[in-house]
Order: sequence, then C-alpha cells, then structure tokens
Amino acid sequence: MFCKNCGKEINDNAVICPNCGVQIAAFEKKESKETCTLAIVGFVLSFLIPIAGLICSIIARKKCNEENLEGGGLAFAGIIISAVVMAITVLYVILMIIGVAALMA
Ligand SMILES: [Zn+2]
Repeated sequence: MFCKNCGKEINDNAVICPNCGVQIAAFEKKESKETCTLAIVGFVLSFLIPIAGLICSIIARKKCNEENLEGGGLAFAGIIISAVVMAITVLYVILMIIGVAALMA
C-alpha cells in the first residue's frame, strides 16, 4: 500500500510510515487484511458437518480470490478436511456394513 501522507510505497503491515513517520490509520490496516468470515465458518463446519463445510469452503475460496481477502488457505484446508472426514465416514459405514454382514452370516 501507499502512505497517504507522502505517497511512498510501504509494507502492508507497517504501523508507521518509514519515510515520513506518519501513523497508518487502524481502519486501513483492517481493510487490507480482512479475513473472509465464511472461510472460518467453513473450516469449523468441515469437522462437524463435512458436506456443509465443503460447500462453505468452496464458496469462501472463490470469494477470497475475487475480493482479495485473507483466508484462502483456511478455505483450502476446510475443503481438504471435509473431504477427508467424508472419506473416513464412508469407509466407516462400509466397514460397519461388512461387520454386520459378517455377523449375520
Ligand atoms: Zn509517509
């Protein structure tokens, strides 16, 4: 980003401008590093309700890319986790069916 006082390009995380020493407004910092809430929701849901987590994470990842928000990595993690949780659930159900079938035989 650029300093509003002197116009020099400065680090996005800078609290004060190294060139002129002016303090960078707090709201500007927040604006440039806003985290996509949906990415957090999707990440949490991926553990609890994997299918909902997967959908939320996919939407969040798209939103993060389009609106240049933080949380793209978190959304990607949400997609992976929900996929793994679903795979484990399916495997568990299959093993249960095999187990029941074995007991019946
Ligand atoms: Zn400056």
